[in-house]
Amino acid sequence: MKLHLRGAVRNVTGSCYVVETPSGLLMVDCGLYQGARRLEELNWRPFAFSPADIRWLVLTHAHIDHSGLTPRFVAEGYERDIIAHPATCDLADIMLRDSAHIQEEDAAWAEKKWRRGGRKTARPPGPLYTLEDAEAAVARLRPLPYDQVVDLAPDVRLRLIDAGHILGSATVEVSVRDGDRTLRLTFSGDIGAGESPIIRDPQPPPTTDFLVMESTYGDRLHDRTQARNERFRAILTETLGRKGCVVIPAFSVGRTQELLYALNELEQAHALPPFTAFVDSPLAIGATRVFRKHPECFSRVILDDIASGDDPFDFPGLRMTQTVEESKQINHAPPPYIVLSAAGMCNAGRIRHHLINHLENPNDLILFVGYQGENTLGRLIRDGRSPVRILGRQVSVRAKVRAIDGFSAHADRDGLLRWFAAIPQPPALTLVTHGEPRASFAFRDALQEQFGARALVPELGGALDLSPDNRDLQQQVAEQENRADRAQWVPVTDAGGAELEEA
Ligand SMILES: [Zn+2]
Ligand SMILES: [Zn+2]
Repeated sequence: MKLHLRGAVRNVTGSCYVVETPSGLLMVDCGLYQGARRLEELNWRPFAFSPADIRWLVLTHAHIDHSGLTPRFVAEGYERDIIAHPATCDLADIMLRDSAHIQEEDAAWAEKKWRRGGRKTARPPGPLYTLEDAEAAVARLRPLPYDQVVDLAPDVRLRLIDAGHILGSATVEVSVRDGDRTLRLTFSGDIGAGESPIIRDPQPPPTTDFLVMESTYGDRLHDRTQARNERFRAILTETLGRKGCVVIPAFSVGRTQELLYALNELEQAHALPPFTAFVDSPLAIGATRVFRKHPECFSRVILDDIASGDDPFDFPGLRMTQTVEESKQINHAPPPYIVLSAAGMCNAGRIRHHLINHLENPNDLILFVGYQGENTLGRLIRDGRSPVRILGRQVSVRAKVRAIDGFSAHADRDGLLRWFAAIPQPPALTLVTHGEPRASFAFRDALQEQFGARALVPELGGALDLSPDNRDLQQQVAEQENRADRAQWVPVTDAGGAELEEA
C-alpha cells in the first residue's frame, strides 16, 4: 500500500494526499497553493492522478488550501462524491464560489494587462476555474457527521473526528484491510488551538499505524488566551483612543468570527472607547451565517451565551458591508473605526483597498492576527517593508503595524505535542507535513526528543510504501536524522513537474 504526498509538504498550502487501497485510490484534500507566485503556479500543473481514477475524495475542512482545487478536479473528470462534515459542505459551498470569483477576476486582470502591453507575450490562460466549475464541485459534496464509521468498500473504512480548527474541521481516520492485516492511517488535518469560545477543542486522536500530521506552528508558541485578550484590548484602546482607525486583515472563516466574538465581549464590558466596526467581506458575512446554522459544532461557552439571549456575532456599532458600493463608503465613515476584511494574508480581496487607504496614515494601525505566508503582501508589511506595491501602486507604510498571533486557529508547538501525546499508542511512523521547512523539522525533532517517535518530513511528490517491513522507509527516517542541512529550502524551478526539494 502506498501513500502519495501531493501537497502541503514543506509548505502550508496545497494540501493533498492519495492512498492506494486495494479497492481504489482515496484522496484526502484537494487544496489550492497560496502565497508566493512559485507556489501558485503549482495549481496549474497536471494532476498526478487522473481525477477519473480517484474513487473517493475526502476534505478535512473548507479552507481553500484544503478544498480550493476541487472545481478544477471535478472539471477534469472526477465524477464521485466529495465527502466532508456537513458544516464543511456548507462552508465549501460559499468558499469555492468565492474562490472562483477571485480566479475569474485575476484572469480578467491578466488579460487586460496583456492587451495593454501590445500582446507581445503569450496570451494568459484564462481562469484556473470558473463559477460554473465551482458549482459543479459543490453539487458533489456529501455530508458525513463526526464519529460515524462508513464502509466505503468492504476493505476501506472512514471516520471523521473533530479537529477543533474551524467549524466542521476534521481529522480523517482511514482503515484499510490488505490481505490479512488492517492498516490504520490518520490525517490530522489542521489541528485547532483549543480554548476557542466558539468551537469545541480537538478530539483526542485514535490509535493509528501511520500519522500524517500538520506542523504550521511546530516551532512556535502562541500568546495565552488571557494575555492575548488583554493585549488585543490595549492595542485597540490605544488607536481608537486617539481616533485612529484599525485595519485587521482576517481570514473570513473562523478568524473573523473569533474576532467578532472578542469584540462583542469587549463591547459588552465597555472596555473600549466608542467605535464602529465593519465586516467588509461578503465571504465572512456568508460564513457567519453558516456558523449560526451549525450549533451542533459549538463549544459550551457559546451555547451558554446563546441560551442567555446574547448574539455572540453581533453588537451595537457592528456593520456588515456586502456590496462594493457599501465597501467604498467605509472610507468616508467618521473615525475611529475598525475594519475586518479579507484576504487574511492580503494577497487578494477588499483588504487591499483598505490598506491603500490607511497605510500612509501614522495615526492608524494595521493589526495582523493570523498566519502570513512567505512573500505575501501581509508578510512584507508585518516584517516592516516599506513601500509596498498594492494593485499596481507604491504605498509607503507609515501606519503602526502590530501582530497578535494568539488568535490562531492552529495549535502551537505545545498544542500539537499535547494532541500527539493523546494518541493511545505511538504510531509506527509520523509524517510531518503542512509547515514551512523550519517548523516541520523543528516539530519532527520535538516528536523524537519527547516521545522517541519515528518521524519524517517527507518530500513533495514522494510516495511511501507503508508496509511495516519496508527497508527503504526505515532508511529514509535514519538518513534524515543524520543530515545537517535538512531545513534548507530550494525554490521551485519548474512549474511543470515542480517539486520542493531538500538541498
Ligand atoms: Zn485550515
Ligand atoms: Zn491548512
